[in-house]
Amino acid sequence: MEVILIEFKTSKRLDKWVENHRKQGCVSHATAGEQFVYEFIPSGIVECQTVKCLCCGDKFTDYVD
Ligand SMILES: [Zn+2]
Repeated sequence: MEVILIEFKTSKRLDKWVENHRKQGCVSHATAGEQFVYEFIPSGIVECQTVKCLCCGDKFTDYVD
């Protein structure tokens, strides 16, 4: 069986938002990787990237060329 790994590159703004969000005090008791979910939706010319905090439900969307 072949396993295909698709690596997504999160935008700088997305990373920044996550960083700031944690600084604001929203830190999950779960491990770091489980607090945020990422969604990548290619929509024509730009890619729509959304990050959502599972802790408080806050989310941020960025559009990448
Ligand atoms: Zn949060």
